[in-house]
Amino acid sequence: MLAVLRLGHRVSRDKRITTHVFLTARAFGADKGYLSGEKDDSAISNIQDISKRWGGEFEVEYIDDWKNFLTRLGSTVVHLTMYGIPVGDKISEIRKHKDILVVVGGEKVPTEVYQLADFNVSVTNQPHSEVAALAIFLDRYFEGKELDRNFPDAKQRIIPSDKGKRFG
Ligand code: SAM
Repeated sequence: MLAVLRLGHRVSRDKRITTHVFLTARAFGADKGYLSGEKDDSAISNIQDISKRWGGEFEVEYIDDWKNFLTRLGSTVVHLTMYGIPVGDKISEIRKHKDILVVVGGEKVPTEVYQLADFNVSVTNQPHSEVAALAIFLDRYFEGKELDRNFPDAKQRIIPSDKGKRFG
């Protein structure tokens, strides 16, 4: 089980990027999403709708108290941060753990997250985006196999084509 927790969501400013975090999580092999920060039912239902249409069982759950959640969940917590240890140096060790929670931040990440995490991992030590960091982390974690993943019970499927759009 690999889940993704998105911290510090703000309804007015983060709708699009938070949606992209979860769509990326789903497309790149995560099983479940958790949203923390401001409660946003429409962002959650938007992802559920996309998920239903494109298949698989990815769901997002709202978490009111992320600190309590992180301490009680029992998963190995991998916090993605530009201040962390390079992903290439830690990924083999992380892969040995069965249940993983990948945490990505928003604008400001509370210092407790760094303390509570089992691994603080960077994807370069340059500032960029939670979406990019998550995509690269998941690709390293799944060693590229996530690109061939099947999404069962999809109502809509793409038939890859050289030119134009084809649906099956
Ligand atoms: N400066 C903020 C902080 O750490 O307090 C981070 C803001 S950044 C826009 C939002 C999130 O993107 C971070 O919390 C982290 O999860 C992710 N991120 C950005 N750059 C990263 C990097 N180089 N490596 C890993 N994660 C990164």
